[in-house]
Amino acid sequence: MTPTLNADLHCHSVISDGTLTPEELAQRAKDKGVDLWALTDHDEVGGQARAMAAAEAVGLDYLTGVEISVSFLEQTVHIVGLGFDASNEPLRQGLQRTRGGRAQRAHEMANGLALVGIKGAFEGALTYAGNRDLISRTHFARFLVETGVCKDTYEVFRKYLTEGKPGYVPHRWATLKEAVSWIRDAGGLAVVAHPARYKFSANEEFALFTEFKGLGGQGVEVVTGSHSAAESVTYADVAREFDLAASRGSDFHCPQESRTELGNLPPLPAQLTPVWALLQDRIQRAPARP
Ligand code: AMP
Ligand code: MN
Ligand code: MN
Ligand code: MN
Repeated sequence: MTPTLNADLHCHSVISDGTLTPEELAQRAKDKGVDLWALTDHDEVGGQARAMAAAEAVGLDYLTGVEISVSFLEQTVHIVGLGFDASNEPLRQGLQRTRGGRAQRAHEMANGLALVGIKGAFEGALTYAGNRDLISRTHFARFLVETGVCKDTYEVFRKYLTEGKPGYVPHRWATLKEAVSWIRDAGGLAVVAHPARYKFSANEEFALFTEFKGLGGQGVEVVTGSHSAAESVTYADVAREFDLAASRGSDFHCPQESRTELGNLPPLPAQLTPVWALLQDRIQRAPARP
């Protein structure tokens, strides 16, 4: 196993809340020196065939990917799936159900924003959604930046889209058990995404990893665009404690918004098993170049 492999196993396209197409992402990943790539759109595998074809065309090794929204102890947790069969019907149907409430939620978010004087947010957000089935808070954030309500998307989330703020609507997503089973039953490996982002107590976080592991989850993101260097050290310890493989991904969404560029991440800390070591037979290999 090459310890220095530049794997980027977390990013988003226009199929969810990114701004680039799967083809543009594949080219960009190649240009930025990525060796192994996965597109992980939220609750949707509709971009996988395009991403696989584009990866092959530019000469990138590829793993199928998805990022599933899960409700766990009153918070939203994201579970990344890697290396599954994207045509698996139970997975596709589970994701469709998970997406199902997004339109209604978006109307409620717009109603909340209207109450504080921000009009037309549903229609505004929709113009940013490449996939009408997947309207997300990110699309509202882009609308509020474009209309000058806030200077950037981080300010929008802080003032309008997080718990207790006018545009925040609690939502019930998939259960942890559903997400892990859909991924596993489709032949893939489940990964806890950006664990430092959650606001769990130590006991709650222990419960998350214990239940995840008990359900057959096998990985945790250690190096991600969402983690500081210190947080990566913390979750390297968690990976060892729970005997989980380690993943690495930028969580890239948009050239203007994302803090981390595709492939531009520190290496995984030593002595961890990279998730790709467990997925060797699931990697779509780029054809050898003459
Ligand atoms: P949703 O799935 O509709 O709840 O939207 C979640 C998405 O919003 C995440 O995947 C991120 O892309 C983005 N997001 C969530 N929280 C923040 C934040 N505090 N700042 C910036 N973007 C955020
Ligand atoms: Mn996102
Ligand atoms: Mn996420
Ligand atoms: Mn993500």
